Amino acid sequence: MKEQIYTIPVMDAFRSAADEKSCPICIMKRKLESASLEYTLGPSYMEDDARAETDRTGFCAAHWEKLYAAQNRLGLSLITLTHVRHIIQVMDKRRNANPIKRSGIFSKSTDPPAPLYDGLRGIESGCCICARVGESLNRYIDTMFSMWPKTPELHTRAEDCGGFCLTHFVTLLNQGPRKLNERGWREFLDAVYPIQRKSMETLEADLDWFIKKFDYRYADEPWGNSKDALPRALRTVGGIGKKEDGNV
Ligand SMILES: [Zn+2]
Ligand SMILES: [Zn+2]
Repeated sequence: MKEQIYTIPVMDAFRSAADEKSCPICIMKRKLESASLEYTLGPSYMEDDARAETDRTGFCAAHWEKLYAAQNRLGLSLITLTHVRHIIQVMDKRRNANPIKRSGIFSKSTDPPAPLYDGLRGIESGCCICARVGESLNRYIDTMFSMWPKTPELHTRAEDCGGFCLTHFVTLLNQGPRKLNERGWREFLDAVYPIQRKSMETLEADLDWFIKKFDYRYADEPWGNSKDALPRALRTVGGIGKKEDGNV
């Protein structure tokens, strides 16, 4: 398939994934996230539309932390100030609005959520960076599915990188059958399943050898590929400590 402007981020992610031996969708997500963090603290925060969005939902804990670490104290203070003002508005508006009827000591599970809870829960559980990243990532995944049958390079790169992390393999299992026709989905799964299976087998063997190396009888044996087996396994099946965070 000829490279188009919208296929480039997908192809680039698969190429980097093959070099880094990591999940291509994690790489796409990482790039989208850093672009979104930059956008949030860039000139956008002076624009009303962008500000209305951050006021309304704020961020999840991980993204508040990353924004704070970006060292734009003035920008983040301005964003946070109007977010706090929005919370005050919601509190004032909802405090006495249609209060929940209490029929007994315990409210029933069928009671409608109290407006105050509802309003604040909406803010507390939202994150506009997660929302933006999620939307764009879904578009990239759609593009990947449409490229897959006509782009043999994607297949070889997927093989070279060892497939997808567990989280993103599950995402593909969920979205694939809805986005590809039956034949397309079968072909995709036939190609990807053996890669995923092999990646799990390699992890199993490397972890097994890593554990054996604690035994004095194996002390003089070579490490092989097992030295980083645990962080590798945690990245693949735990979705934590991605290389980019420098954690593992
Ligand atoms: Zn991933
Ligand atoms: Zn978030």
